[in-house]
Amino acid sequence: MALTGIQIFKLLPKTNCGECGVPTCLAFAMNLASGKAELDACPYVSEESKALLAEASAPPIRPLTVGYGDTAVKIGGETVLFRHEKTFYNPPGLAALLTDDTDPKVIEQKCQRYMAYQYERVGLNLRPELIALKCVTGDGAKFTQAAKQVLQSGDFSLILMSEDPAVMKPAVEAIGNYNPLIYAATPDNFEAMGDLAKEAACPLGVKAGDIDGLMALTQKLSDMGLKDLILDSGSRTVKQSFVDSVAIRRAALMAQNRTLGFPTIAFPCEITDNLAMQTAIAAGLIAKYAGIVVLSDFEGSVVFPLLLERLNIYTDPQRPMTVTQGVYDINGPDENSPVLITSNFSLTYFIVSGEIEASRIPSWLMIMDTEGLSVLTAWAAGKFVGDAVGMFVKKSGISEKVKHQSLIIPGYAAAIMGDLEEELPGWNVTIGPREAAHIPKFLKEYKVA
Ligand code: SF4
Repeated sequence: MALTGIQIFKLLPKTNCGECGVPTCLAFAMNLASGKAELDACPYVSEESKALLAEASAPPIRPLTVGYGDTAVKIGGETVLFRHEKTFYNPPGLAALLTDDTDPKVIEQKCQRYMAYQYERVGLNLRPELIALKCVTGDGAKFTQAAKQVLQSGDFSLILMSEDPAVMKPAVEAIGNYNPLIYAATPDNFEAMGDLAKEAACPLGVKAGDIDGLMALTQKLSDMGLKDLILDSGSRTVKQSFVDSVAIRRAALMAQNRTLGFPTIAFPCEITDNLAMQTAIAAGLIAKYAGIVVLSDFEGSVVFPLLLERLNIYTDPQRPMTVTQGVYDINGPDENSPVLITSNFSLTYFIVSGEIEASRIPSWLMIMDTEGLSVLTAWAAGKFVGDAVGMFVKKSGISEKVKHQSLIIPGYAAAIMGDLEEELPGWNVTIGPREAAHIPKFLKEYKVA
């Protein structure tokens, strides 16, 4: 069990030297107990105390990785129940279900189709990462072959699904170095599955009939030395899936229940056959703590909204999303094309660039780093003012891309025009529209001076 703040305090040096970043050992002990500090921050803890404190300072939900390379999914490691308390760190993986009786050509086609569901957003490549391969043939050789086929057919990490250790063994031996999730250890097979996962150093799914069963099972597997576990409470109804998911998170964070301190896996594909309904359930489970969500199929209309939801929930609410400062070309501009400038708040960028794109007027869009503030807020904060914008324009390299000296500034930044013209002598500064929706009309009428 985790130690309380007072128990931790008793193991600290009690010199109150403050080197850990807080003034007293007691404050540090309290931070350690609530997962807000790392034990390494105190250089004076004895080795003996360190061993005792290791458990207390471990994250309440173990972080672990499933898969390999670009599609490796890091899950767990969360420290709060609600995103606004701090942030959520590790977004859940999205998986599509395939079975090992599927024709290899169909596996290849599906993987290729799934590979196409990749989207650029705020400078990130959003995509689903996982294939859950379920053994329905009961044949280890076929299962292994299908697993290899998935790996050859696309860039995906794998969840291997079979409760038969004899079927799982050859597959793990063949592709264990790709760090697949071995799913699942149950009360009937946990020793053999535990040995397999331990030998291959792969994460292990743990499935029981309810949360009590899950706790008993993770305790046994932990006693075997297994650390990277992923929990499945076995619930296959919408209501019970949510209830269990929330109960597991609360038990891990609030009661510091170590037997439930692991990420979870959820199976909307086993709750309903309807893909739209699975998507709705997955959306709820992404918001409520699932570490991996398995659907029966991927389609653009399924994947895109789930990826966006995941992105939105798993971004730090205290830090605005930004795009990289620079000069962006839209619609294939040349040296005579208009030049616009705005802030690097990602929403501003996407709205403005979208409107320019819709206008079909080839243009240059300059994005200035305002620490993620929108134009008006950045201006009020002194980050989007005449001299700063002028300096940025001079250093941006735009003069090498265009042969004119005309610049369009956002309507909301009209107040900077005087200072900007002083900073950029010879430039012709025009005030653009306040609303991005008016950009297409503005650009169609605009003439570069
Ligand atoms: Fe106490 Fe260690 Fe922090 Fe110093 S660094 S105040 S000894 S916990």
